[in-house]
Amino acid sequence: MTDVERRVALDAIAAEVAVCTRCRLHQGRTKSVPGEGTAATEVMFVGEGPGQNEDRQGQPFVGQAGSLLDELLTSIGWSRGEVFVTNVVKCRPPGNRDPEPDEIAACAPFLVRQLAALDPALVVSLGRFSMGRFRPGAKISQAHGTFVPAVDGSGAGDALTFSMYHPAAALHQGSLKETLFADMQGVPAALTESRSRRAARPKTEPEAGIAPAVESETKAPEAPPARARETEPSAPERVILAPAAAEPVRADSAADSPTREPDPASQLPLF
Ligand code: URA
Repeated sequence: MTDVERRVALDAIAAEVAVCTRCRLHQGRTKSVPGEGTAATEVMFVGEGPGQNEDRQGQPFVGQAGSLLDELLTSIGWSRGEVFVTNVVKCRPPGNRDPEPDEIAACAPFLVRQLAALDPALVVSLGRFSMGRFRPGAKISQAHGTFVPAVDGSGAGDALTFSMYHPAAALHQGSLKETLFADMQGVPAALTESRSRRAARPKTEPEAGIAPAVESETKAPEAPPARARETEPSAPERVILAPAAAEPVRADSAADSPTREPDPASQLPLF
């Protein structure tokens, strides 16, 4: 697909989301929030669901959590305009409650189609509801800051998925902010790793097989831009230097053995 075709597909999905009545969440919405960002990106951020500000404006992450997401992107030299941001559910759960399983299931086809249109190399999940779609069974207190191949059936194809706490969690629990920023430093390396894996993969290979786990001591490569689709995805001349990863990113195995000790945040009501 060309970037123009991707854009057309994303816009068509957004038009359907705008009039969707597949679950009860449509009853309370002011505006649906299909997601936004460039169709040329290789990186998709997936949050939980719109809050009050997002519901009013029809855009994802425009409240305080959105400001923190912007800061996180800036910390690795990226910007909102270089990625695509969406949510697991596209309409606001009343009172910002957690989305119900049937609401997530009703909205899943939209997310799957967005993934199919973008074919991202990297899906960054924000919070446990998003992580659950790409890395089911993982505990966010153990998985945050690490990446694995996205599970089959998630719609993410051969993408890697990088797990993060939800930015809103840091608004409630200040100590998580540091963790979020530390974890974010591993995102560019995860993208580089995914590009290498995709480049090495024969074009004829069926989607089904999950590639073996990433080497645990992968040397952190130069940080790549989030957006390089218009030219060669891995063209070195497109690489811009973002701040180096704080430490080598360790990808856990497909079976998801933890790569870090549980931290105090594991005691929190997790986002
Ligand atoms: N929280 C989310 O998960 N998504 C948004 O768009 C805003 C806040």
